[in-house]
Formats: sequence, C-alpha cells, structure tokens
Amino acid sequence: MKNCENNPQYLNVFDILKRTGLRGEFSFKFHITGFLGTEMEGIAAGEVAEFKLVLASVSDGVYLSGTILVNLTTTCSRCLKTQNRRIELRPQAFYLHETVVDEENLDENLYSLVNGHYIDLLEILRDSLFEKLEFNPVCDANCTNQFLETLEDDAYEDSPFAELRALKEKL
Ligand SMILES: [Zn+2]
Repeated sequence: MKNCENNPQYLNVFDILKRTGLRGEFSFKFHITGFLGTEMEGIAAGEVAEFKLVLASVSDGVYLSGTILVNLTTTCSRCLKTQNRRIELRPQAFYLHETVVDEENLDENLYSLVNGHYIDLLEILRDSLFEKLEFNPVCDANCTNQFLETLEDDAYEDSPFAELRALKEKL
C-alpha cells in the first residue's frame, strides 16, 4: 500500500465510489516537485498546476474529466528562444476498481485507482501533458531562424553536417 493520506499528489475518491451515479467536482492546486516534459517543452519544478476535475461514479469505476492549467516552458526548435505560456490540458480518464494486471491490453486512458480509492494526480497530469507536447515546437509559425538552413550551406560539405544533410534529403 502506498501512503496516500495527506499527500496532495493523491485525490481521495472514496465518497464518489459509494454509489453508481454519484458525481463530484474538485478544484485544487498542486505543486509540481520535479520537472515534467521533454528537452524542448516542459513544466518546471515548483510550478503550480490548477486542477478542475469532474468525477463520476460508474458501474466499474470512476470517470474523470475536466481541466488542468499549467505554465509550459517551450524552447523553439528553430531559434532556441524559450517562452512561457499558460496551457490548458483536458484529461479524460477512466479508473477501474480492479487493478489492471495486463498492461498490454491497456487503453491509454485506462487507469487503476491507487489503494482502491485514490487518483494519482501526477500520473494524469503527466499523461495529459505528453499528449499535448510537440516534437518540434516553434516560437512562431514564421520563425525563420532555421538551423537546417545552415546544413544546406556548401561550406559544410566536408563537415559532419554533410552526413546529416544527406540524411535529411532522404526524408
Ligand atoms: Zn523561433
């Protein structure tokens, strides 16, 4: 058993589970203790995530929907400028009563309740965030400070970039 009591990472949904059809709205803030994201985009440690969740009890679990507001720091993949912006994540997840044993059969929006009646908020935040992250984020659609242009320069013919360029042409 994990110790979930008095840990803001875990939301106790015991009351919702009492009867099918029960519904509850939850608003709260959660401090992110460690960086979440990729090299290009992420949420810094210490940021606050604002959760507004709706939970509904259904026959075999709890359905979660709502919004999470967080500050996302993005590094432009063209000019490397960093930017901070507020984003809204819209998680949708289903929490089963039974612990799901076979991970392979898991739908990506299917989760298990921790200790039978807790929702792991960090987990749903992380998964919602990763759905939103871009592989090559840009500061502006018109950002022209392209690294790739340098690769097209003939001066790079004999450099390690030539190999990269050849690769790029194959794409
Ligand atoms: Zn840029």
